[in-house]
Amino acid sequence: MKYTEITVRYGELSTKGKNRREFIGRLNGNVTKALAAFPDLHIYPKRDRMHISLNGTDSDAVIAKLSQVFGIQNFSPSIKIEKDIEQMKTTALQMLQEQVPEAKTFKIDTRRSDHDFELDTNQINLLLGDAVYDNIPELTAKMKHPDVTLRVEVRRDAIYLSSRTIKGAGGLPVGTAGKAMLMLSGGIDSPVAGYLAMKRGVEIEMVHFFSPPYTSERALAKAKQLTAKLAPYVGTIKFIEVPFTEIQEEVKRIVPEGYLMTVQRRFMLRLAVKLAEQRKGLAIFNGESVGQVASQTLESMVAINDVTNMPIIRPVATMDKTEIISIAEKIDTFDLSIMPFEDCCTIFAPPRPKTKPNLEKSRFYESMFDGEALMARSLAGVKVTEIHSHDEFLATDQIDIQSVL
Ligand code: ATP
Ligand code: MG
Repeated sequence: MKYTEITVRYGELSTKGKNRREFIGRLNGNVTKALAAFPDLHIYPKRDRMHISLNGTDSDAVIAKLSQVFGIQNFSPSIKIEKDIEQMKTTALQMLQEQVPEAKTFKIDTRRSDHDFELDTNQINLLLGDAVYDNIPELTAKMKHPDVTLRVEVRRDAIYLSSRTIKGAGGLPVGTAGKAMLMLSGGIDSPVAGYLAMKRGVEIEMVHFFSPPYTSERALAKAKQLTAKLAPYVGTIKFIEVPFTEIQEEVKRIVPEGYLMTVQRRFMLRLAVKLAEQRKGLAIFNGESVGQVASQTLESMVAINDVTNMPIIRPVATMDKTEIISIAEKIDTFDLSIMPFEDCCTIFAPPRPKTKPNLEKSRFYESMFDGEALMARSLAGVKVTEIHSHDEFLATDQIDIQSVL
């Protein structure tokens, strides 16, 4: 079918009464960004729906982009026709005919906002139902849970017909919940944490620590490529690279091996908090999962979390690795995440980190050097770039999955 419009239904809006205007405004902005590649579209955000006129644009391409935008419950590609009964009948039959033989049962669901139209909703339901009965013998009417529902909307300007409802990404429009920093490594967990943060309406900026020459350009490129994978949900994402070499070398020189990891993590968190403060972020998100590795025991979280009161949100905290992986596969970050590039933590990882670090000791070892000066130098070297979904930093065909598994 050559669709002419898309009707978008908002998600979770009913519970957000007085924030409705902000919700719709953000969603409009995010949809406009997500569909920027299609110049002929017209987007009309209304109080209860959003209408997109395609103006000749291919609907499949638009649907693919739209299904990644958070804050949309579902949407229906539709056809706009003149307010003519014959034309309505022909188009309705064509639309339903396309769904045969997969669909066996149908229902007509008419709404009318133009009360001057010559037929009322019941009359239209009956008229079209009869037409289907006469012309498409494969379909029988069924009021509850039909295979296909043909929606007819009689509005002032025209009649709109649709027969497909496509599930949206759900969640809240990105930005409605404020801004936060995501600590993004090159691993599996943190990109998933970022996706889940955005799903709840949080605008995220990526904070990535790297340690040249111990970590390669390719490890940095991998983190950027992961960011590009998450960009379609918002349009663009800021990527903040933070040089971490000097801090790691200094920590390694001074701190006993069992506390290397804890003290490094305390510095990472402090730097992320400083960046959040500078950039008006309200919280830190990370990819920690309880009990997954030594740095993710509750004792470890106590010792690391000690450096700040800023909320630290761990969206994958209670998920099993297999649950995290299935989301990573769904959002297409998994294959990238398992590329075997060393990151700054693995290189300086002690063979036997303390799984139950002591808070007082962590503070004590840290007092042995000038952390403020080290952090100031690291922050002076920060670089911020804006990443788009089509940006290329790494060719994914470099992935040799067999060598990794
Ligand atoms: P991931 O799969 O996200 O790398 P992980 O299971 O490997 O997580 P860790 O290496 O212990 O776990 O890291 C825990 C969290 O610390 C990460 O999820 C991420 O949020 C943060 N982190 C680790 N390394 C970095 C880094 N180089 N830059 C920014 N954040 C990092
Ligand atoms: Mg990791």
